[in-house]
Amino acid sequence: MNLFEYQARGLLGRYGLPIPPGDVATRPEEARQIAEGLSKGPFVVKAQILAGGRGKGHFRSGFAGGVHLCSYPAEVEEVARAMLGGVLVTAQTGPEGRPVNKVLVAEAPQISRELYLAILIDRGRRRSVVVGSAQGGVDIEEVARESPGEIHRIWVDPQVGFWPYQARTLAACMGLCGSLLPQTADLIVRLYRFFCECDASLAEINPLAVIENEKIAVIDAKIGLDENALFRHPEVATYRNEVVEDGREAEALKAGLNYVGLSGEIGCMVNGAGLAMATMDILHRYGGEPANFLDVGGGADQNQVTKAFGILMADPKVRAIFVHIFGGIMRCDVIARGIVEAVTHTKPKVPIVVRLQGTNFEEGKAILHQSGLPIRTADDLADAAQKAVAAAAETR
Ligand code: ADP
Ligand code: MG
Repeated sequence: MNLFEYQARGLLGRYGLPIPPGDVATRPEEARQIAEGLSKGPFVVKAQILAGGRGKGHFRSGFAGGVHLCSYPAEVEEVARAMLGGVLVTAQTGPEGRPVNKVLVAEAPQISRELYLAILIDRGRRRSVVVGSAQGGVDIEEVARESPGEIHRIWVDPQVGFWPYQARTLAACMGLCGSLLPQTADLIVRLYRFFCECDASLAEINPLAVIENEKIAVIDAKIGLDENALFRHPEVATYRNEVVEDGREAEALKAGLNYVGLSGEIGCMVNGAGLAMATMDILHRYGGEPANFLDVGGGADQNQVTKAFGILMADPKVRAIFVHIFGGIMRCDVIARGIVEAVTHTKPKVPIVVRLQGTNFEEGKAILHQSGLPIRTADDLADAAQKAVAAAAETR
């Protein structure tokens, strides 16, 4: 789960990292008020989207850049007005861009140097790695490509932990000396503590900047958290509702369903993540495109099946619904009754193809046939996928 920059700033602030003061706004007037409440300008207004490259991006409206420096609160309001409600396209968003619903307004100190600092997990080595470079800023990808020697890495043995001398070594490699060196070493140690305690999978500060009077500051922060560990962090789990940008995904989250929105036209309802992936593969094989990944889980109840139907049908791209359930612990006759009720209740306007396999599948199929509902059944995987692809083609 990736966080917005303003959320990342909040978390890192708790660990004592030096971050220029600021706050997040959803309305232009609010942005101005935040600037007025800050002790000094200039100010920076930053579009909050879950993608990087904002500095070099552009809005659909033609407005340039998702990061703007302003001298006065009135200018902050103007810039916020241009950004809010707009769509920002960057190298990381794809051509469709991302809607901007929030902007961050912060003090913009004079920057004299832009560095790079990140902690991530090196799965190959089974440990985390702290990465630093003297060449931070918006062109870090180019630095990594053209002068990889400028990127320094320190791997951390989880048994031993991260030692202060390692932080000092990295800070020195990043070209820091004098009072900047201990400041940065302290910041790296704090970032590592945050990384472990919050079960992060990524903590990237780019740029980490040297600002006025030789101080170090966090200017941009990107954080990824391990979703499987969210139960250990109830205070952070609430961020989740804000970071789900896809309306379909937000609905599914409320219903407790494991849903990922995709761009195809066959709405899939499957139990088990493995079967869900296999279903998507076989649809591809027969020329179909899934509209989603949806794992209703092993113990999906009537209510969840109905909700799942509702979410699939609310997606205007969906041209056919493919229900693919393996009755293991759950019996197929129970599932079939659930499907009949959900279909009777939600009245889908697109064809429905159902494949049930496992315990009591014959009984399940009979229930579907006897219901008199326009449900098409299928026997094996290939047959079901072909029927789903054909059904979607009919309604196109
Ligand atoms: P992104 O990584 O999405 O492009 P950043 O927050 O890193 O967004 O901003 C891009 C660039 O904008 C920074 O590398 C920096 O040069 C400039 N910038 C960002 N914040 C400030 C600031 N407070 N003061 C001056 N320049 C800034
Ligand atoms: Mg950045």
